[in-house]
Amino acid sequence: MAARNHFDVAVVGAGVFGAWTAHELRRAGAEVILLDAYGPAHARASSGGESRIIRMGYGADEIYTQWSARALPRWQQLFARVQRPELFHKTGVLWIAPPGYQYAIDSLAAMQKLGIAAEKFSTTELRHRYPQIAFEDDAWGILEPASGVLMARRAVQAVVDEFVKLGGECRQTAVQSPAASASANKPLDSITTSDRHTITARQFVFACGAWLGKVFPELLGPRIFPSRQEIFFFGLPAGVTQFDEAHLPTWLYLADEFYGMPDIEHRGFKVANDRHGSRVDPDTQSRIPTPEAIEAARGFVARRFRALADAPIVETRVCQYENTSNGDFLIDRHPEIENVWLVGGGSGHGFKHGPSVGEYVGAHVLGRVTAETAADPRFSLATKAETQQRSVH
Ligand SMILES: Cc1cc2nc3c(=O)[nH]c(=O)nc-3n(C[C@H](O)[C@H](O)[C@H](O)COP(=O)(O)OP(=O)(O)OC[C@H]3O[C@@H](n4cnc5c(N)ncnc54)[C@H](O)[C@@H]3O)c2cc1C
Repeated sequence: MAARNHFDVAVVGAGVFGAWTAHELRRAGAEVILLDAYGPAHARASSGGESRIIRMGYGADEIYTQWSARALPRWQQLFARVQRPELFHKTGVLWIAPPGYQYAIDSLAAMQKLGIAAEKFSTTELRHRYPQIAFEDDAWGILEPASGVLMARRAVQAVVDEFVKLGGECRQTAVQSPAASASANKPLDSITTSDRHTITARQFVFACGAWLGKVFPELLGPRIFPSRQEIFFFGLPAGVTQFDEAHLPTWLYLADEFYGMPDIEHRGFKVANDRHGSRVDPDTQSRIPTPEAIEAARGFVARRFRALADAPIVETRVCQYENTSNGDFLIDRHPEIENVWLVGGGSGHGFKHGPSVGEYVGAHVLGRVTAETAADPRFSLATKAETQQRSVH
């Protein structure tokens, strides 16, 4: 049977943003094709990691607290529908902060205002509850008991599976940059794929993660900053269970800029540095960890989780954040091609928001905007600068 090549919407990129966007559009009745050069949540994609935190605290950036709170039940509903509840682990998320740390104070206030469960702990309470962690004498904490971990790569696959079941089409092929063939101020008619198909559609969504700057080099090359990020899984001492999810929540150590997760599915204790690494190319960057990053992770673990000071590293991953100048997402029309949408800039915190991004993009592409999906200038291209000054975490 000849491949179908005309759709209402073509979504390029099957990471978490593209997958949920395609899903949302299909659910609304559109004929949709989802295309990815390497396949959904592949090993080089930002969405291709094993696990991602879903937390509600976002400092004073309340919009992301709201989006996260809307996203969590939608993830859980999806996992229930596809009978894969294990793709969300309700580990709880613990913030550990120095005294007077504004981000944590603002996070707590926003969660209280929005009715999201959050408990505040003194140093004494932290030490009593989590003897595995070496806290400073003046540390305090916030526990989000209902938050936790999404099993990222498999979660995206579940979204795509359901999208296909709903009648969407998913194809593995690379899409050529439309910049060369498109004429300024005219709608885009079609895109061309690496297997030499021409796909026509009324609207095109480019949800290309760290590749956005390669697909639109002039426009987004200077505005998307892919940074190298390294992740380590430490093996637990034999027979030790105090670092599993029954005993330890997912945690963010704000002063140290490290975060991590308990041992989930016996894959090890996850530790990562949230600081931006060097600028990288997502196609070609080395996925082998550097000695410097290993040393930094080991040093952090030895300081804060002393029982793991000599624990072996049992697994590593090297990925990239796809940062905008300040960490706000990019969700906007192309300034010259009105039926092309640019969706990305997850900036190291985007995964959890997949369902909310899909809902927002779907509403705008289909022209069915509601109060909840009203355009927010924070997502506009106009707010994306060419120098980095991170403010959203
Ligand atoms: C180490 C690390 C830890 C993180 N931790 C968290 C966390 O704890 N919580 C959280 O919420 N977020 C976290 N994030 C951020 C989150 O993972 C990303 O923001 C999110 O996955 C971005 O999704 P995306 O769909 O925009 O991009 P991607 O997942 O990278 O997907 C983009 C896709 O586009 C495809 N593509 C690009 N160009 C083309 C083309 N020309 N033709 C066809 N296909 C193309 C690519 O192949 C790719 O699959 C983390 C990210 C990293 C790297």
